[in-house]
Amino acid sequence: MSNKNPRLEALKQFNKAADIMHLESWIKEILSYPEKVVEVYIPVKMDNGEVKVFEGYRCQYNNALGPYKGGIRYSPDVDKDEVIALAQLMTFKCALVDLPFGGAKGGVKVDPLKLSLSELERLTRRYTYEIINIIGPSIDIPAPDVLTDEQVMAWIMDTYSIIKGYNEPAVVTGKPVYLGGSKGRKEATGKGVAITTREFLKLFGDDIKGKKVAIQGFGNVGSHSALFLSQMGAIIVAITDMKGGVYNSKGLDIPDLIKYAYYEKDIEGKTKRTVAGYPNADSITNEELFKLDVDIIIPAAVENVITEENAHHIKAKYIIEAANGPTTFEAEEILLNKGTIIVPDILANSGGVIVSYLEWIQDRIGYYWDESEVNSSLEKRLIRVINEVYNTSKKYLVDLRTASYILAIERIANAYRKRGLFP
Ligand code: NAD
Repeated sequence: MSNKNPRLEALKQFNKAADIMHLESWIKEILSYPEKVVEVYIPVKMDNGEVKVFEGYRCQYNNALGPYKGGIRYSPDVDKDEVIALAQLMTFKCALVDLPFGGAKGGVKVDPLKLSLSELERLTRRYTYEIINIIGPSIDIPAPDVLTDEQVMAWIMDTYSIIKGYNEPAVVTGKPVYLGGSKGRKEATGKGVAITTREFLKLFGDDIKGKKVAIQGFGNVGSHSALFLSQMGAIIVAITDMKGGVYNSKGLDIPDLIKYAYYEKDIEGKTKRTVAGYPNADSITNEELFKLDVDIIIPAAVENVITEENAHHIKAKYIIEAANGPTTFEAEEILLNKGTIIVPDILANSGGVIVSYLEWIQDRIGYYWDESEVNSSLEKRLIRVINEVYNTSKKYLVDLRTASYILAIERIANAYRKRGLFP
């Protein structure tokens, strides 16, 4: 991983697009900064009776188009700049896929895998309490991100509801289905990644069937991307994660690998949560993954993993950014010069927030759709935006990321042009 400042990296992408489209300077100035960053210190009683304090954030980047929206991440690497960069990405992602949402992100600096379930619950409930006045269905709606899941969302929803005195499922998305979650939400980001891959290959005259794919990350997004892409006929030859990786030139059996990583227990009785050690494959490192002779690379783990150092080694024609911010600005320049097609994060992984939007609507109207309705709504919206991005890239003669930013910025700028600036 590169140690570049993610906030400055994200601003470079924004500035590039803003300059090409001659964005008014007052709107450019506003969009260069977050609106609010809340920093909290969360005291948690650990199982051994000691009290530990964890650092947490919620960044509300922009709400010109609607309530702030964005995930909450639990990771030892969380810091203020990372959260701001991710909140900025959310702002452009929601605008790009035409949702009535602004952008936000939250994070707690913690390794949740080292906490017991009850410590994790106390941490989540106290973090929710600390940010309770700035979240809500019309204010800011969190969702899962790295190492947070539907259980964490259920605790947030429960804490918020108890303190407010009424049940409020619409305060978070990504909840369990029986607590007001949407059918299809858990799979949505990976499904969106797979649809985006298939559609862009089509637009560039290729076919997903038989294409060799390497994926970094086998969490929610990586595992579902692998599953849906293999169902579409792609051959997933390599997957790596935090603890190692696996390679099989003939293709990995994805349902079997999911069973291995998520259902088999290690000697301490804990779920493995890694592909490392999977028997029907050779082992491979994260660095080796980026050098493989494959058609498609999908970073689906963390940011800044494709850098100036490894971009030269990449042979794949397509990079589909399932993770947020996986490619540094400099690495992208190298790759674009080589002719690599990069489908940017704000489009490739937008399936999650699209179905989060559907979940939020369902919670607010109290009526719940079938999974097929959710999936077809997701696919229809994504395909519309994919074509808009492709056409914009042709119109401005720019890469797909710049085209995506131009579309997103234009939607936010339109809101500012009519709303004006208070006071
Ligand atoms: P997750 O916690 O479920 O999985 C993360 C995966 O990445 C795990 O397999 C982990 O082992 C691996 N990983 C973590 N650090 C790594 C490292 N340094 N090197 C290699 N592998 C590493 O998280 P997720 O929800 O799948 O999110 C993955 C990415 O997708 C993140 O960038 C997240 O912001 C983005 N994203 C997630 C969603 C969503 O709906 N969950 C939506 C949009 C974008």
